[in-house]
Amino acid sequence: MKDDSLIKIVKDIRSRVELEKEAGLDELALKQFIKRGSLTSSPAGFSAIEKQEALDELREAVLSCGRCALCRLRRNAVFGEGNASAELMFIGEAPGLQEDIQARPFVGKAGVLLTKIIEAMGLKRKDVYIANCLKCRPPQNRNPLPAEIAACRDFFMGQIRIICPKVICCLGKFAAQTVLMSEEPISRLRGKFYEFEGIKAMPTFHPAYLLRNPQDKRLVWEDMKKIRDYLRGRS
Ligand code: URA
Repeated sequence: MKDDSLIKIVKDIRSRVELEKEAGLDELALKQFIKRGSLTSSPAGFSAIEKQEALDELREAVLSCGRCALCRLRRNAVFGEGNASAELMFIGEAPGLQEDIQARPFVGKAGVLLTKIIEAMGLKRKDVYIANCLKCRPPQNRNPLPAEIAACRDFFMGQIRIICPKVICCLGKFAAQTVLMSEEPISRLRGKFYEFEGIKAMPTFHPAYLLRNPQDKRLVWEDMKKIRDYLRGRS
């Protein structure tokens, strides 16, 4: 659907972020704003350059975001990285210490494992797109708060809608529950394809969980094979 320019969609988000900042939007107003929904169109059929331009615009909005208190604690916002036209997009939870320092997603120990998983699928990091639900690191890597996820929703949903991948792989409980709007535990959600705005979504365990529970790596590999087969047109 090429009914609106990507840049216009992202500019709308940007100007809202600026307005909210100027108006000192309180949390209730922010919740109402998010409930109303701000991104409604799902643009497909755009070129890699158009998508990259839209992502660059959205990155600017993230860098100037003051929607929640995490912006005051971060060294860097971690927007996301990868191929703007990726067929496969990974969504994690939130930046950790290394990500906060380097301003890149999944570059710590969990990131090393995620990179191995991607390569085991026959892909490279540069082939896929990697982002997180939260763009700023929660202190001491605590779990994201619902209000923080809600505040960042425009940004990661914007990324999904701009990239419009064939598959979103939701890494861990927070990404899975947020994208699928579910309260089911990740152990129940994982391993099956769901639909998100016409895109297949596959929840699986988070790489950080796998570092603590290596016996479950084989389950994640089963999930990755389903994604790989789908992308290769085999399922
Ligand atoms: N864990 C995440 O969920 N995201 C990162 O970027 C790093 C660790």
